[in-house]
Amino acid sequence: MKETQSTCPYCGVGCGVIIESQGAQITGVRGDPHHPANFGRLCTKGSTLHRTATAEVTLQTRLLSPLQRKSRNTKPQPIDWDSALTQAADKFAQVIKDHGPDAAGFYLSGQLLTEDYYVFNKLVKGLIGTNNLDTNSRLCMSSAVAGYKQTLGADAPPACYEDLALADCLFITGSNAAWAHPILFRRIEDARAARPQMKMVVVDPRRTDTAAVADLHLQIQPGTDVLLYHGMLHLMLDQGWTDPAYIAAHTSGFEALRELVREATPITVAETCGIAQADLVEATRLFARSPATLSLYCQGLNQSASGTAKNTALIDLHLATGQIGKPGAGPFSLTGQPNAMGGREVGGMANLLSAHRDLGNAVHRAEVAALWGVPDVPATPGKTAIEMFQAAADGQIKALWIACTNPAQSLPDQATVRRALERAEFVVVQEAFATTATCAFADLLLPATTWGEKAGTVTNSERRISRVRAAVPAAGQARDDWRIGRDFAQRLAARLHRESPSFDYPTPESVWNEHRESTRGRDLDITGLSYDQLDQAPQQWPFPEGARSGRARLYEDGRFPTPDGRARFAAVPYRALAEPCDAHYPFALNTGRLRDQWHGMSRTGTLGRLFGHAAEPTVQLHPTDMARLQLAPGALVQLQSRRGSVLLPAHASPDVAPAQAFVAMHWGGEYLSGRAADGSPLAGVNALTQPLYCPDSRQPELKHAAIRIEPAVFA
Ligand code: SF4
Repeated sequence: MKETQSTCPYCGVGCGVIIESQGAQITGVRGDPHHPANFGRLCTKGSTLHRTATAEVTLQTRLLSPLQRKSRNTKPQPIDWDSALTQAADKFAQVIKDHGPDAAGFYLSGQLLTEDYYVFNKLVKGLIGTNNLDTNSRLCMSSAVAGYKQTLGADAPPACYEDLALADCLFITGSNAAWAHPILFRRIEDARAARPQMKMVVVDPRRTDTAAVADLHLQIQPGTDVLLYHGMLHLMLDQGWTDPAYIAAHTSGFEALRELVREATPITVAETCGIAQADLVEATRLFARSPATLSLYCQGLNQSASGTAKNTALIDLHLATGQIGKPGAGPFSLTGQPNAMGGREVGGMANLLSAHRDLGNAVHRAEVAALWGVPDVPATPGKTAIEMFQAAADGQIKALWIACTNPAQSLPDQATVRRALERAEFVVVQEAFATTATCAFADLLLPATTWGEKAGTVTNSERRISRVRAAVPAAGQARDDWRIGRDFAQRLAARLHRESPSFDYPTPESVWNEHRESTRGRDLDITGLSYDQLDQAPQQWPFPEGARSGRARLYEDGRFPTPDGRARFAAVPYRALAEPCDAHYPFALNTGRLRDQWHGMSRTGTLGRLFGHAAEPTVQLHPTDMARLQLAPGALVQLQSRRGSVLLPAHASPDVAPAQAFVAMHWGGEYLSGRAADGSPLAGVNALTQPLYCPDSRQPELKHAAIRIEPAVFA
C-alpha cells in the first residue's frame, strides 16, 4: 500500500489527508495528524473521500474521454484530445476574429488548484485580451474580498485558526460552521471545553446547529445585518465601549460612521431586526468588552445584494473596539471552497490581476504585462458571473468555457443561465464528472483529473498553502486542468497571430514558480516558498524570500496596507431587501448547506451513506405556517417566486422563523425539478432565486427570495 499526503477537496478549512492506494486504486483516506488545519481529524465528507473514487463510481460518474456534440440535443461522441483542442482553438479564434476578445467568456471554479487558475488567468487576460474570466468564487467570497479591501486595504484575512482557542468571545454571524466547516467547529468545541468562560454569540435567521449551542443567539430578520451592526456601534458609543485610542492612532473616517449610526437606536434596531433589546445589549457588551473578540462569517454575509456593506459594517466594529491585530481577535471570513483563496491570489477573477493587483491600476497592469511578456493587459473589467451569463443570454458572449463548475444548477435565476447556454455558439465544459447539469449544454466535453489524481497547491481560510498530490494515475484519458489550459493556449496563440505570453510549462511546479515570482513585494509575497518547502509543511502567507515562517496574524503593529497606513471605516447606510415579501410572495426563502453534501453533489451524491443525514430535498417551515397552510408532514407544496417554481415536501422545523422557508442548495435535476415562469423545465432551488447582486462585489443574493407557498394541486 502506498500513502500520499494531500488536501481534502471540499471546504475551505483545508484539512490534510493521507490517501492510501494500491496500484491505480485509492483504497482509503485518513486525516493527516501533522496538518495544522485538522491534526488528523476529518468530517463525514472528508473521511469518505475514498469511497467516492472506487472503480465502480468512476465508471458511473466520470468523464473518461473527450466528447463532442455535432449538434445540440444529440448524444456526444468520442473525439481524440488533439482534435478536441484543435476544434476548441478554431472556434474560439473565429469568435475572437469576428466579434472581438470580449465575445469569449471563461467561468472557472474555486475548486481548481492555484496552478490551474494561474494558467487560465494568463490565457484569458494575457493572450486573448479580455477580462471575461470569472469563477464560482464570485458566489462565495467576493463580498469578503471587497470588504477587506475597502476597510483594511488588502484582501487578507487577518486572523488564523489558533485564534479560535485564544478568543474570549466568538461572534459567529452568517455562518453555520457546525455543518459548513465541521473540523473548525470541532476546534471551537475543544476551545470552549478548555475555557468555559469563552462566550459564543451567533447571529442567524435560523436556529442552526451552530446557533443551538451558542450562549446567545440573535435570530435576526433576513437582510437586517447591517442595521444590527450599526445598532451595536451606536450602543458602544453610548456606553463608552469603543477604543478611542485605537481609533485615533490607526484608523480614518470614524466621524462619518458615528454620524451614520446616530439613528440606529436600540429600540429601532431591535424592532427591525426582530430581536430583544436586552439581547442586542448583551451581544454588544460581549463583543466590545471581551478582552479578545473573533468574528467568523461566511455566506450569510457574503451572498447578498448588500454583501460588501455587511462585511464592512462588521469590520467597523472590530476597528472601533480595537479587536484586531492581537491574539484571539479580528474579523475572520471563512472560505467556502477549498481554493477560493488561491484563485484570488493569482487574480483569477474579472476585476483582479495576479498577486492581488487591481485591473483599474495602470501600474499594476504594466507590472503584469511585463511579467507575462505582453504589450498590455486590457483595462476594462470583465463580466462577473451573473453578468457573463446575462451577456451570453443576450448574444454578446458567443463562446463560453466552463471548468470544474456547474452553473446550470448553481447560479441564481436559472432561466437566464439556461438561455445563455443554449444561445452561446460554442460551449466547452472541462469537467471531471459527466453527471453535472451543465454537461448537457456542451458542444465539447474535456475530461479533467480530480482529487487523488492531480498535483498542485491550495490556500485555505487562514492563508495557509498546502500541497495537493496525485496518488493514482488519471482516470481514463482525463488530463490536469492546467495542462488543458496550456495546450489550448498554445493552439489558440498560433491562430490569433499575436504576441503570446509563454505557456511553456512542463509541470505544475513550473507554473507555481512563475506565480510566486509575480508576488514579489506584494502583500501576499510568497517568494520564499518552493514546492520543496511546502513538502516539509503547509505554510501561511506572506512568506517572502529569506523568511523562516509565514505570518499567523496580520496588522499586529497597527499599520494597514493603505496609502496612509490607517484602516478605513466604511460608512455605508443600511438598505432593506430589494425584493421584500408582500401579500403575493409572503415567505422569505433562505438557502444553505447540509452537513454531509457538497455543492451540486457530483461527488458526495455517489455515496448512499451521506444521504443518512438528509435523504431527500425538503422545504422547512415553522410549525405555525404548516398549521396555517394545513399541511401534514411531508405534504407536497409548490414554491413559487417571480422567476420560477419548484415542488417539494414540506416539513415543520421550529429552527426556521415564521414566514420564512429553508431549502438546501445541493439538490439538482433528478432530485428537485422545477419550472421557469414560462413553463420550461429547470432544476434545483435556483429556479427561484434572483439575479440581483452587490454593486461592489457583484456577489449575488442567494440567501433571499420572496416566494409564496401553496399545497400542490394535481390534475
Ligand atoms: Fe474536508 Fe472541510 Fe471536512 Fe476538513 S472540514 S474534512 S476540509 S470537508
